[in-house]
Amino acid sequence: MKVPWSAASIRVRMTAWYAVVLTLMLVVYAAATFIAVRQEFQESVDEQLHDDFESAEGLLAPTPDGRIVWTGDRHHDPDNDEDRGSDVWSSSGDQIGRSGASGALPPVALATAGAQAHYDSIVAAGRRWRTLTGTTLVGGRSVVLRVSRSEERLREQLSEVLKVLALGLPLVIVLAGLGGYVLARRALAPIDHLAIEARRVTAERLHERVSVPNQHDEIGRLAAVINDTFARLESSFDKLRRFTADASHELRTPLAVIRGIGEAGLVETRTPAEYKEAIGSMLEEIDRLTTLVDTLLRLSHGDAGSVHLSREPLDLGQLARDVAASLGVLAEERGQRISIEGAEGLSVRADRLVLREAITNVIDNAIKYSPMGASIAVSILADGNQAVVEVTDQGPGVAAEHRERIFDRFFRVDTARSRDAGGTGLGLAIAKWAVEINGGSIRVDAGATSGSVFRISLPRGQA
Ligand code: ADP
Repeated sequence: MKVPWSAASIRVRMTAWYAVVLTLMLVVYAAATFIAVRQEFQESVDEQLHDDFESAEGLLAPTPDGRIVWTGDRHHDPDNDEDRGSDVWSSSGDQIGRSGASGALPPVALATAGAQAHYDSIVAAGRRWRTLTGTTLVGGRSVVLRVSRSEERLREQLSEVLKVLALGLPLVIVLAGLGGYVLARRALAPIDHLAIEARRVTAERLHERVSVPNQHDEIGRLAAVINDTFARLESSFDKLRRFTADASHELRTPLAVIRGIGEAGLVETRTPAEYKEAIGSMLEEIDRLTTLVDTLLRLSHGDAGSVHLSREPLDLGQLARDVAASLGVLAEERGQRISIEGAEGLSVRADRLVLREAITNVIDNAIKYSPMGASIAVSILADGNQAVVEVTDQGPGVAAEHRERIFDRFFRVDTARSRDAGGTGLGLAIAKWAVEINGGSIRVDAGATSGSVFRISLPRGQA
């Protein structure tokens, strides 16, 4: 079966890469070694030839009658005579003397002998030879001297070296490949282990985590990231579950009320006025249901990111004033007074309708949760590069432990009171979403004496 390269495990791919790179490196290294050794051998032969030349010169002597004699042939060395030799010619081409294996080599062409000593490589009698040829003066007369050495022994040694390299190389590569494979397996085993552990964590077992053997190494960091992801997933799942449960509960309550009214109306005959009242109550509950479903839909659009924002520069103070004016009727019903103070012309870039909703919900809460006749202060101020709307009320305030959670969906400090006031438990969740999607933030603090201060901050934009 043919396994595509990309499907091979990292272990196999790592080993293959390692073996290829190692082979290339070793081949280059072996070639360089071979070339260096050959060069070294060649140089040592040339040095020996140079020495041979000098000692051969010492064996030439002039006679009183003007001849030159060669005493080299008296030095017989049966061990080396096969592999080296010397020849001496007079300038007229007569052979003055010779020794060793020189007979195997062709005579020197005197015309090319030249004054300068020079090395040559030649093949004679099926063997390779290295020679050094030069002229020298003996008793004032010039003679041509050639010393030679067979290169066969050198070639044998070189082929030995080559053999060792050629046999050793595959062996080293195979051993290194095996070693690389074992190493890769050991290095990657924790990843396999991690995968097995991570697979164990399913939607039903999201509380489980993978083990982090050493949080400072790569695997440990990966495990930590995976655990973080699981933690976030778990919290999202929890939120979703709670939200679904809360939403079902919120939807069930008005439905139960409608059903109750309907059933009561069916049991006994009532006057038209009583029916009218029952229908009125039902419609009230239906209104509540409609508001709830609308709000839920809007939140889910927000979650899905499918809300189209049209952000434009707008005057935050002006917007807050508009909202306060439109909620004025509600405040008046409760004998409350809304005061507005602060900077004019403080500009932010936001979607007017969405931001308006956030401010509406906060001021609406201030009215709902403050007692009759209380006063509510809305201030617009600049804080560094932030434009801020602060809504201060004289309500019960929000206990420190609830300050984060009141922005959660369906969270209410006092469920009965919220419901009586017509609340769905979603107003602040919407406000938080609306502010954040416009790049701002919302928080609640305790008021100076009592009540609470809701603070919406947005980055200031150009007017
Ligand atoms: P609700 O529809 O219940 O008002 P919200 O999301 O607007 O829902 O508010 C969540 C909860 O936060 C409220 O039920 C209430 O307990 C608390 N809360 C909101 N605004 C105020 C406020 N101005 N003063 C005191 N508590 C508040």
